[in-house]
Amino acid sequence: MARNPDDRRRLFKRIALLLAVVVAGLVLVVFLTRSEQKEPEIALGYNFTLDGKSWSPAIKEGNIRVELDWDAAKLLTLNPTGSGNFISELDMAGSNPSVSNQFGNLLWPQCTRIATEIFIDQDIPAATRSQMRDATISVFLWLKELTGLYIVLTKGSSERGEEFSTGAQRISTPDDNIIAIHWVNKENTVMSPDELAAATMWATHKNGQQIPRSSRIRLSSNLFDTMPDGEIDRLSKKMAIAHELSHAFGIGHSNDPDSYMYPVLAPSASITPADRAALALTGSRAC
Ligand SMILES: [Zn+2]
Repeated sequence: MARNPDDRRRLFKRIALLLAVVVAGLVLVVFLTRSEQKEPEIALGYNFTLDGKSWSPAIKEGNIRVELDWDAAKLLTLNPTGSGNFISELDMAGSNPSVSNQFGNLLWPQCTRIATEIFIDQDIPAATRSQMRDATISVFLWLKELTGLYIVLTKGSSERGEEFSTGAQRISTPDDNIIAIHWVNKENTVMSPDELAAATMWATHKNGQQIPRSSRIRLSSNLFDTMPDGEIDRLSKKMAIAHELSHAFGIGHSNDPDSYMYPVLAPSASITPADRAALALTGSRAC
């Protein structure tokens, strides 16, 4: 694509700019349903910049199943801040859970079988659909390994089992314990032309904890057309997909510009030790 340094700089500038524009419209909305009380669904918007977000509840109750090297493991240290409150080294490294309040963090339990479904807009050319599927699957496998969660690909994981994304599905609530991923043609009206991705989560309360019920992720073909190829650990299509999917597992935005969870993906973005610790925490909720 870009061969000389000037071209590369221009390309990165374009990507950073595009993402910056897009991120303004990128929201993680959590719909919280108190199932025991049969109250109507309450839609709660969580602001990523709210203070007081902390991984410490998850670290205190955590049952981490994946192996972490020392760089990542040391970030799971808790420091008391007085009156029974704690801050973790991970918080100080800039990582944030998507939701943190009096009910702790919003995390999937380890024994829940989470079904992941991939739907792709039929308007997207077959060759691109195939590349989108392959990239999504490799990100899925990476997340499965780094979180230790019981996630399985149940729909749209092969050409023969291809599932097309319909307009109705893209706005509906997935059934419980499902993460529905929709690749949407950029011309489609569901997403504005500048929007690259959006994640929505539904949650419930059980035994004093908040747990996800389902999640829906929309990814624009614009993301696929704009981001460079390459592996997850550098600025690439896969990294952008990993960013969005990580929201569905309870990770919010990072304050660290070098993290793949920073709101704007920079050319220097990578999977930092804090990111690996956060991913391990998303799979740490005992049943
Ligand atoms: Zn994000």
